[in-house]
Amino acid sequence: MIPLRLKIETDVVDPYVVRLRSFEGLSEDCSDAGSLDATLENASAENADFAGAMGKLRVFGVDPSEVNGDVMFVVPWRGTAHRLIRANSRHNTLLITERCDQLCLMCSQPPKERHIDMFPFFETAVLLSPGNSTIGISGGEPTLFKSELLEFLDTTMSARRDINFHVLTNAQHFDRDDVVRLRRMDLDRILWGIPVYSSDRDVHDRIVGKPGAFDQVRKSLSLLCEAGAKIELRTVLMKPNAPKLFDLAKFVTTALPFVDKWAIMQLENIGYGRQNWSSLFYDSSKGFDVVGKALDFAISRGIETKLYNFPLCTVPANYRMFAPSTISDWKRAYVSDCADCSLRNECGGFFEWHPKAHGYERFGVA
Ligand code: SF4
Repeated sequence: MIPLRLKIETDVVDPYVVRLRSFEGLSEDCSDAGSLDATLENASAENADFAGAMGKLRVFGVDPSEVNGDVMFVVPWRGTAHRLIRANSRHNTLLITERCDQLCLMCSQPPKERHIDMFPFFETAVLLSPGNSTIGISGGEPTLFKSELLEFLDTTMSARRDINFHVLTNAQHFDRDDVVRLRRMDLDRILWGIPVYSSDRDVHDRIVGKPGAFDQVRKSLSLLCEAGAKIELRTVLMKPNAPKLFDLAKFVTTALPFVDKWAIMQLENIGYGRQNWSSLFYDSSKGFDVVGKALDFAISRGIETKLYNFPLCTVPANYRMFAPSTISDWKRAYVSDCADCSLRNECGGFFEWHPKAHGYERFGVA
């Protein structure tokens, strides 16, 4: 797994954001290094020493060329640096909060009450990001801090016209006043990823652990549509909602035809998803008919529909074109059977923490 947190030593006292510049063996020179950059001074097998206007920073256990351009959040008293933005990755996500007002059966990151305001650090990190990045925003539930979030998006998008965002939200906190504010933003550069698990409000509310959530998400979707927002609907496929996936496809095409994309997603085995695995995991390799029917229907009605987090060989060959590699690089893994697989380059494999007994009956034979 790619490490997102590195051991460090620094002479700085307070937490700060810095971009690492390692010009080792590169044709670039360090003349364009700014006040928020730290450039490489020395490197050994064990550590790399960087220095900049902020102070000195020793990073352990990493080849400096691998972190060139990375934007780090340094926490001196803890002796760690978090790689907020990895320059060579398309999978950078900023976690706004660990709080959430839902309690989803399969939550990969169960909510916590504590909250630390990271917006000032994240703002700096975005400004230092590589050109043309798309940055993920997630939680917890980011819109619990909606006003700060919209301000953050506004500020960073105005300062960096090349940056786009993908915001994951349960869409429980939008109201009519937000329409005007959203319309003032460059909404073409934000994709709002919003979960809808069923067209049956009771099933949806049970899955997210919040009565009234379905009605609220519908209202929010209407408001976002009115504002002109780009929307990616997200449906994690599970035993409780798989039997009615076709009804959901009909609902999406008739009630939510304005969405830009519908993602049907396989389950992640971590957090509550792991605790509830046996009652939730739906083996789509042997029950693909419900997925195929829903996907065919949605596509026939003009909705771009994709399968996220599906190992390619568990998907029938004629549907693989709808299953892009979506698992983030730092948490993607393959099992031993994948070693000689001809599909490996296109396949997103598994989450690192997926059980070795992966649960797909038709694995490698689809
Ligand atoms: S064998 Fe592994 S690499 Fe090949 S399609 Fe299946 S999961 Fe992907």
